Amino acid sequence: MCHLMGSQKGTSRPIRYLGDPVLRTVCDPVTTFDADLKRLVDDMFVSMYDARGVGLAANQIGVSLRVFVYDCADDDGHRQIAHVINPVLAADGELVVDEEGCLSLPGLHFPTPRHARATVEGVDVDGRPVRVTGAGELARCLQHETGHLNGKVYVDMLSGDTRRAALRAIRAAQTWT
Ligand SMILES: [Zn+2]
Repeated sequence: MCHLMGSQKGTSRPIRYLGDPVLRTVCDPVTTFDADLKRLVDDMFVSMYDARGVGLAANQIGVSLRVFVYDCADDDGHRQIAHVINPVLAADGELVVDEEGCLSLPGLHFPTPRHARATVEGVDVDGRPVRVTGAGELARCLQHETGHLNGKVYVDMLSGDTRRAALRAIRAAQTWT
């Protein structure tokens, strides 16, 4: 895997915002590992960097397939850059509440509970098995991106006053759609 920041290999595609049905649709498993899939992953990296994100799921650029990319730090501060196809998530450990945001809900951040550790198993663009285990920001990212592929967004994880504040802010942000 050699997706470097600043690489011009892919094409930036527009980010879909909350309100677009593709973000509420459960994505399909990838079954064809071909040049189109490689192009999708390249485009996802370029789109994520263009939008200054640390993670991106395929449905955030309108493609309903189980693929995500990320570039974020693990709990040791090491930068992790990778893609995962057909991820299966296992998250455990205590719930940690920290600020979370999403490219599909621009400008908003809310304290969101996530498990402290997460493992994702899946495959890469060539169909080879990959396994990622992380804590800290990486664990949060793996849970966030897997959620997208199941039609979820992070505000679905909120409750009480935080959830009410998030829903108010989303209603106020009419300019997205
Ligand atoms: Zn997101």
